[in-house]
Amino acid sequence: MNNEIPIGSPIRTQAIINRYFVKAKKNLGQNFLVDLAAIQGIVQAAQIQPGDQVIEIGPGIGSLTEQLLIAGAKVFAYEVDDDLPEILNNELPKQINGVPIKERFELMMKDILQADFKEDLKDFFDLTKPIKVVANLPYYITTPIIFFLNESELNFASLTLMMQKEVADRLGAQPGSKAYGPLSIAVQIEMNVTEALTVKSTSFIPRPKVDSSVVVLTPLTQKPDVGDAKHFNWVVKMCFAQRRKTLNNNLKNLIPDAAERAQLIASLGVDARIRPEQLSIAQFAQIAAAIK
Ligand code: SAM
Repeated sequence: MNNEIPIGSPIRTQAIINRYFVKAKKNLGQNFLVDLAAIQGIVQAAQIQPGDQVIEIGPGIGSLTEQLLIAGAKVFAYEVDDDLPEILNNELPKQINGVPIKERFELMMKDILQADFKEDLKDFFDLTKPIKVVANLPYYITTPIIFFLNESELNFASLTLMMQKEVADRLGAQPGSKAYGPLSIAVQIEMNVTEALTVKSTSFIPRPKVDSSVVVLTPLTQKPDVGDAKHFNWVVKMCFAQRRKTLNNNLKNLIPDAAERAQLIASLGVDARIRPEQLSIAQFAQIAAAIK
């Protein structure tokens, strides 16, 4: 097979699958992208410029990796499937724009959730400069990865992540919508959320059962004042413990005294029967501040 045909084109992907007897591993969330337009859509959504430092989570057989490299990025990838280094080593171009691939691509065989970014990246990236994360995520750990990246102290310029559409909708959800909840709030106190494109299940081998979306998360320059984020997120989770019940009901464990609860809810300027999904981040911050 001609190596000039991009890895992400169906014909080249199929050739790689046949050559290495690749069987997508369900337990590792493997759904390989075979849609060049979607892959390039991800690269565009991430606004990759020559010289950008990119962490890729799960390069798979390299379809997205190759396009990131062609766009000029330096890519550090985390992968856990031991069958893939041989494929990546053989199938990714040996040179990109005249530069040996070793200078532009590094693979670390490590669970992303065990990453120690500062240590892992120190010899490959300039850590004084911002880093972009780009990934077609393994869907079985989408939320843990988002929390892990959100809590990491690395200087991120943006996170461009393909995920299940349903999770993407939760990330960007606003008060009053069904999708709005602890995940939306935990992310929105730190980052701006934009849904960049949706990708059909026919763009993957094997096809996932759900639709996918690419979301771009960028750190907020002015974060809302929610006090201690851990305490705040814990209070939010408690308020949503039974999302169909009223806020008053959910607050019973946190504030056993009924009069105290009524006073707090009144101070929010809302109806006593309000449900948690109707509250804004500022109102949750008020609740968190009242609970020690
Ligand atoms: N980037 C490729 C593509 O778009 O075709 C593959 C994407 S596939 C949805 C997810 C990738 O993440 C797989 O290569 C899988 O082996 C890898 N992966 C699964 N769990 C991982 C983990 N905990 N840490 C790093 N990579 C992981």
